[in-house]
Amino acid sequence: MRLVFIGPPGAGKGTQAEYLIKKYHPAHLSTGDMLRAARDAQTEVGLKANEYMSRGELVPDQIIIDIIAERLNADDCAQGFLLDGFPRTIAQAEALDEMLTKNGTPLDIVLELKVPEEELFTRLAGRGRADDKPEAIRTRLEGYRTQTSPLLDYYGTKGLLVTIDGLGTVEEIFDRIQTVLDKIA
Ligand code: AMP
Repeated sequence: MRLVFIGPPGAGKGTQAEYLIKKYHPAHLSTGDMLRAARDAQTEVGLKANEYMSRGELVPDQIIIDIIAERLNADDCAQGFLLDGFPRTIAQAEALDEMLTKNGTPLDIVLELKVPEEELFTRLAGRGRADDKPEAIRTRLEGYRTQTSPLLDYYGTKGLLVTIDGLGTVEEIFDRIQTVLDKIA
């Protein structure tokens, strides 16, 4: 199964991704996790990316596209992958399409986890990550609205988008996801 997981910061993507991986075993490709690991290891890319991350801004497309292009070629992606936090811009989605078309491995589905914005701010402010300061949260929500949400139309037009209601308990939300994925698995 090859899937993309889209949702605003604070929608609960990380938690649902964990459940999903336990059940369906795709390779987990979280660009946020990769960037935090690169930052902690103080690599050149990690330090550069951190300038953007700490402000809540998106890291430039080319940095992310290079990271994903390399990661998608790893052996564990052959049996499927979950893209978590990528793509986040139309340019990234187009680059991804090009990579997957070249490999003959198109996406099966794009899941959108939908949560109202008022709820997101409350959730994020309670989380305590370095980029969960109010100013950075506002920037991240704004980035989602302006740069990432156009992907919903992009994948909708391709017939790949399925929207999941992201309100409820973790188990309720995962049940909704399973119902959708069991049909295509
Ligand atoms: P996340 O853990 O997915 O919320 O990502 C944390 C931060 O990493 C984001 O706020 C961005 O600064 C950066 N980031 C992660 N994925 C991407 C991406 N696909 N494009 C640009 N920036 C990203």
